[in-house]
Formats: sequence, C-alpha cells, structure tokens
Amino acid sequence: MKFPDQLSDLYKYMQAELVRAGIQTASQDARMIIQKHTGYEWADIIASPDIKIKKEALIEIEKDILRRINGEPVSRILGEREFWGLKFKINEETLDPRPDTEMLVEIALRSCVGKQPQTILDLGTGSGCILIALLKEFPDAIGVGIDKSLSALKIARYNAKYNEVEERSSFFCGFWGQALNKKFDLIVSNPPYISNQIIPTLPKEVQNYDPILALEGGNDGLKAYRDILKEINAYIKQGGIALFEIGYDQQKDVMRLAEESGFSVRDVHHDFAGQARVVDISCGDK
Ligand code: GLN
Repeated sequence: MKFPDQLSDLYKYMQAELVRAGIQTASQDARMIIQKHTGYEWADIIASPDIKIKKEALIEIEKDILRRINGEPVSRILGEREFWGLKFKINEETLDPRPDTEMLVEIALRSCVGKQPQTILDLGTGSGCILIALLKEFPDAIGVGIDKSLSALKIARYNAKYNEVEERSSFFCGFWGQALNKKFDLIVSNPPYISNQIIPTLPKEVQNYDPILALEGGNDGLKAYRDILKEINAYIKQGGIALFEIGYDQQKDVMRLAEESGFSVRDVHHDFAGQARVVDISCGDK
C-alpha cells in the first residue's frame, strides 16, 4: 500500500494522484473521499495532520481513488449529492442532481409568492431532489413524485425521510401523471430531454454514470414534453403553474408544444450562462 497513513500526508498524496490524472476538483474530491471513510473533515486535516488512519479505511480510500481516476463522478462514489443545501442519496437509476436544476426550485419560489401551493407534483422525480427541496420551502404543502423506475423511487422515499418530509410526500411508479385522479397547484419536471443523436457526444461522466432513462428524450429530445403536455390538463388545477427544465435550444419548441395544448407560457427563465433553462406555464386564471 503506497497510501500514507497520516491524515495530512494522505490528503496531499491523494490530491497529487488526482491532479496527475487531470481531475480539476482534486482537492475537494480527496477531502470528500477521506470524510466518507474516516469521518475527518477539512478542519481535522488542518488541526490534526498527524492523526493515524486505519488500514481498513486506507484500503477503501485507495479503491475510491481508483474509481475517481477511472472517470467516475465523486457523487457516484459517495452515493450522495448536495442539492439546495440538502443531502440526497443517489443510485444508478437516479440522475445525479445538477446545480443548474436548483433554478427550477428558485423559479417555483418566485412564481408562488403570495400564493403558496398546497399540492405539488414532480414528474420524473428521480432522487426526489426537486420535490423534497420544494416541500422544505413550502411547509404546508403535500407532494407527489412519479417515476418509471422503482429503484429510483426507493431512493426518493429514503431522501424524503432523511430530509424529514416523508409525512407530506408520496411516491408512485407510473408513466408521467397517467394514474393520477387529483389536480395540483404546482407541477415541476426535469424530464429526459437529450435527443438520441446527442447522447453519444455527452461527457463520459454523464454517458457512463447517469441512467439513460433520465436523459433520453427521443429523436428530437422533446418526447417527454409532448407526452406530458398532452395530458397535463387532467392534473393541473385552474390557476396552477407548471415549470419545466429544458435544454439550451428547446425554448421555442417547448413554448409551441405548450401553446398547442392550450396553455399560456408566462415566462422563459435564463440561467447565469444566459441559456434558457426553465419554461413557466400557467393554466388559466385562478
Ligand atoms: N441537464 C442534464 C445534462 O446536461 C440532462 C438532464 C435531463 O435530460 N433532464 O446532462
């Protein structure tokens, strides 16, 4: 075993190995992997550099460093990711929550000022991160998360419990909202929106580790929006709001699909990079 067994030396060694492999987030990743196996944080590395690390932990750390060097994202190695300041477990059937998607939560908060939603629906909930973040923000609301993957739903349920919203959330397996017989005030979705032709060009970290079910949006990337917008009337309340994350070039198409389904697009919100990111649709007046 080449890995040093003193905390600070270990950290420096891991960091150097990751830098050598061209990993840009080397320091952060090294710290997160140390914390996973030893519980020691950055402050411990600084304050107690001589702490001895147990052999068993070193073996696990070495395995994880190899996974990282082979291109596995650190969130997959840890099995968790932070989103909206909350911790979420992820697995091979959930998309790794992206910081970009926090914008959907932010727009939901802005759109609902003065009229807090009582009922929230998340279509394609995955890890449950969007729904759970919203339930934390709207303490009187109840929420439903739907996903095609049972394994993702298991993780979403765990995350709801971990983040203490399990009593206000239910998760179901289904094809979008087809099994619902209730209408919602707020509908959110980050559906799969990458076209088939683009999938092979995605970064390896995405292609190899995010589930295809959460990415692939058919030949034109719009299949999910088409399917949802066709039926959404059945489960959006009069005066309700629907917010969809979209791909950078999908603004016009999603606006057209919404209008064809009889909805008015209230706004299209752009992210910090100036790209259209969230389409904000309303269903009539309250
Ligand atoms: N934003 C994700 C990506 O860039 C795609 C997520 C999705 O299709 N909903 O990989």
